[in-house]
Amino acid sequence: MSSSNENAVEKPKHFIQHIIEADLASGKHARIHTRFPPEPNGYLHIGHAKAICINFGLAEQYGGLCNLRFDDTNPEKEEAHYEQAIEADVRWLGFDWGERLYHASDYFDQLYQFAIELIEKGLAYVCELGPEEMRAQRGTLTEPGQNSPYRDRSVAENLRLFEAMKNGEFEEGKAVLRAKIDMASPNLNLRDPVIYRVRFAEHHATGDRWCIYPMYDYTHCISDALEGITHSLCTLEFEDHRPLYDWFLDQVSVPCHPQQIEFARLELDYIITSKRKLNQLVQEGLVNGWDDPRMPTLSGMRRRGIPPEAIRDLIDRVGVTKKKATIELGLLETCVRDWLGPRAPRYMAVLDPIKVVITNYPEGEEEQLDAPLHSQNPEMGTRKLPFGREIYIERDDFMEDPPKKYFRLKPGGAVRLRYAYIIDFEQVVRDESGRIVEIHCTYDPDTRSGIGTSERKVKGTIHWVPARASQPARVRLIDRLFTVPDPDRRDEPFTAFINPEAMREMPEARLEPALSAIEPGQPVQFERLGYFTPDSHDHQPGAPVFNRIMTLRDTWAKKKS
Ligand code: ATP
Ligand code: MG
Repeated sequence: MSSSNENAVEKPKHFIQHIIEADLASGKHARIHTRFPPEPNGYLHIGHAKAICINFGLAEQYGGLCNLRFDDTNPEKEEAHYEQAIEADVRWLGFDWGERLYHASDYFDQLYQFAIELIEKGLAYVCELGPEEMRAQRGTLTEPGQNSPYRDRSVAENLRLFEAMKNGEFEEGKAVLRAKIDMASPNLNLRDPVIYRVRFAEHHATGDRWCIYPMYDYTHCISDALEGITHSLCTLEFEDHRPLYDWFLDQVSVPCHPQQIEFARLELDYIITSKRKLNQLVQEGLVNGWDDPRMPTLSGMRRRGIPPEAIRDLIDRVGVTKKKATIELGLLETCVRDWLGPRAPRYMAVLDPIKVVITNYPEGEEEQLDAPLHSQNPEMGTRKLPFGREIYIERDDFMEDPPKKYFRLKPGGAVRLRYAYIIDFEQVVRDESGRIVEIHCTYDPDTRSGIGTSERKVKGTIHWVPARASQPARVRLIDRLFTVPDPDRRDEPFTAFINPEAMREMPEARLEPALSAIEPGQPVQFERLGYFTPDSHDHQPGAPVFNRIMTLRDTWAKKKS
């Protein structure tokens, strides 16, 4: 769209773009190289989308490269199926790593060699303190730590013991390899951090080849350097780890020294972006899996029907800074509506139907109306809409005892049926319990939309579907997963704030016939109701299940205030 191009041109550059442009101008780098380094221990969420868009987006913008690298140093928590899900999510967002799919575990041999190099330089030692003792000796923010009694072992002894660790001669927790930096450093990350620990666990890529595993801080910087990364972009919580990132790279013989740059995480209100907590929702059955359409995971958002372009637009509008901020969820919703508004074809569906019998319409007859798929985009074409003696309208589009400015159907009133005729109220039909089961109306044959000769006008227009030709469907109204904007910063556990109305199913909805051609992945607008798409798991031709992507307007603000 032209408007987003204009935005791109006018938008001021952010601080990472300034750094990259300076590095390219000075010749420090001929080409930039970034990476997106997820840990395959869960599904990606909307927060990760920011890291993906920044890393892949900058590479794209400056003609560079971006790798996808799984940070798989934690054998217990990682699983191969997470990797497949992550790959699918990155592709869905519109990015491609070409041939450059890597794993930290690809470098286990090299990482081991670099650890030996550190030992040989007197910069690492095997420490046999237990985890408790090590913690106790680490000190605090105000107190320096104490040196480990194993700190001054000889190089030869360290080499022998490290090899023994590798050969499985130490039980878990009985020995670690630590960097020898400074137990009095004001930065706790530099107080002789652990580089390797013993884990007798099957690794999903290396099997049982290793029983020692490198720690994240040690692995990450070396992996970056081995891949020739120029700018290692990460979130602010790694700022305090940067001295360690640089220390490792300064000590071992890696081919280059990438620059770590931190930016603020994406945080949205009403949304949780912690893999651990999202995992808890899944494990406790509080949602139906990682791709539940209520979830802020990319797979959940995809299933719900949120377009990837809207997510990219959101990231673009939020921008890249070092300032922590929580973004209003309304901004995501605006991005979704702005993308879908001009593009989603319009159809009609009735979520809570009540039958209307048009008593002056000949029995057994039917006519085909032409309805535009998008009234502002005539080039999108039209669809056929059968009209006959019986139709359904929304139960709440009729009121027996309406307030003053009610312009929908009411006793003594008239209303226009979208793309069809004006109908006049006749009477209601009730069952034994007094509940209204049918509304009888007459139609005004001269008022057909577009071609009727009548000048007659009414104030209200409502949507409808034909009774016979419409398809029964289940429609799920998806809403915010939490009732409060900050569920994970309250006294009660975040699960106490799950919105019980976050997914309400309308079991008796009816869809106009043309909707039977719509498949999962295709967003549509149900007129007056919102944007919807078929559910990728449960939808079947003949038994449709649709999810609501978004309402047409922000109804939440009104509901809650
Ligand atoms: P979590 O805290 O949810 O467990 P993580 O940071 O441990 O997430 P990783 O798989 O390690 O998850 O993340 C991969 C990359 O995505 C990292 O570079 C991380 O900084 C980035 N990232 C994670 N969450 C966000 C967020 N909310 N906003 C921006 N980037 C994020
Ligand atoms: Mg992480």
